[in-house]
Amino acid sequence: MTTLADPVPGGRPGDVERASALGGELSGAGVQGVVLAYVDTAGVARVKTIPTARLASAAAWGVGMSPVFDTFLANDHIVATDVLGSPDGDLRLYPDLDGLVVLAGQPGWAWAPVDRVTQDGERHPGCSRTFLRRVVADAARAHGLAFKAAVEIEWAVGLDSAPAGEFVPATSGPAYGATRQVELSAYTADLLAACAAQGVDVDQVHPEYAPGQFEISVGALDPVAAADRSVLVRQTIRAVAQRHGLRVSFSPAVLAQGVGNGGHVHLSAWRDGTNLHAGGDRRYGMTADAEAFAAGVLARLPALTAVTAPSPASYLRLKPSQWAGVFTAWGLETRECAVRVVRGTAGRRAEQANLEVKPVDLAANPYLALGAVIAAGLDGLTSGAVLPEETAGDPVRLGADEAAARGVRRLPTSLGEALAAFRADEVLRAALGPVLADAVSAVRQGEIDAVDGLDDERVAAAYRWRY
Ligand code: GLU
Ligand code: MG
Repeated sequence: MTTLADPVPGGRPGDVERASALGGELSGAGVQGVVLAYVDTAGVARVKTIPTARLASAAAWGVGMSPVFDTFLANDHIVATDVLGSPDGDLRLYPDLDGLVVLAGQPGWAWAPVDRVTQDGERHPGCSRTFLRRVVADAARAHGLAFKAAVEIEWAVGLDSAPAGEFVPATSGPAYGATRQVELSAYTADLLAACAAQGVDVDQVHPEYAPGQFEISVGALDPVAAADRSVLVRQTIRAVAQRHGLRVSFSPAVLAQGVGNGGHVHLSAWRDGTNLHAGGDRRYGMTADAEAFAAGVLARLPALTAVTAPSPASYLRLKPSQWAGVFTAWGLETRECAVRVVRGTAGRRAEQANLEVKPVDLAANPYLALGAVIAAGLDGLTSGAVLPEETAGDPVRLGADEAAARGVRRLPTSLGEALAAFRADEVLRAALGPVLADAVSAVRQGEIDAVDGLDDERVAAAYRWRY
């Protein structure tokens, strides 16, 4: 379990001794440096790195970094708001030692996620990991709930030798095809070995639908650890690819047309060690709380997409009939509804049952995405939200009247529409707090402005190698 306590100047009790011992062990094992990893508001993974010998000092006092990264865009431009984007000020990055891993795909390096703390030792209100820790801690305190989560990762594998900026698939085999598996078997075997060495339990890795596309799914963890893992696994996928002459993209739309890369979120709520999505007396074994939680997520999806699908490229992916889930509908094991109820296999439902939220991609900051989805679900619990009728099949086939009667709406078709819904959503904005909500609004507006006048091909190209 991730520790939910905030870092403090001087280190939490035991942290410095632990970091000191760990630093010695790592140095003895040939680890030269530690990657301190966080994800910005735009969804770009950014890092600072320190020599291994500095780990104890970082655990005690953090490592400096400007708060300006809260309003970085994916293209590295910076937008400014009344409170954010100024070149002034400094923050401290504190590594979470529980998340520290020796990187198997990058010999000589270890990796750790960070929380950001102000120079005065307070929580930084723009820190997305701190936000998710707070949402999880509040859910435990106010509702007696814990969560398990996992983020699926889809990515496109291209040739590193491709002309600058272009994507040339590294395999031409068919979707889900054995040819693809054979052609990239050395790469995927090394990827599995790296995941195993890093303690990441992989459920599956397989060729996917789009050109050169693969998918990996990993075991569920508490939400903060699940978000950390999503960042770590992507770093690993990329590092191993590079050693094979390959280049990877997690962009929602590597190409303007066709199926994109999703980052579906799986989430289950638990109370006193019992999964609320199984063994209940509501539909498909859900408890009343599980239904209300799902209803809360469903109701806020248009606004949530500004967090879960944060890039102009996200809206090239979010098209009907491509398994991306673009309608405010839910169903049992359906791949076209935004919320898919996963019941699990008979005999294992008590552990496996969960909700899958599909309009999420890997441009999303996973800490913000998980925190916002959980906050929406919790609002469903407290407001007694009612889960509407389920939808079977592809909602695109519903007539207008039937869709309206069931409350089935198309999700935003542009980042602009999503941002308008987000700005109007008091619950999500309150959950994020004013600083993070401001950062999300400013960065999304910045991305919209950055692609003004670009056609779909140029939007895809602009973000292809940013995520
Ligand atoms: N590639 C699809 C997406 O963009 C998902 C395919 C699947 O269900 O695994 O969400
Ligand atoms: Mg998939």
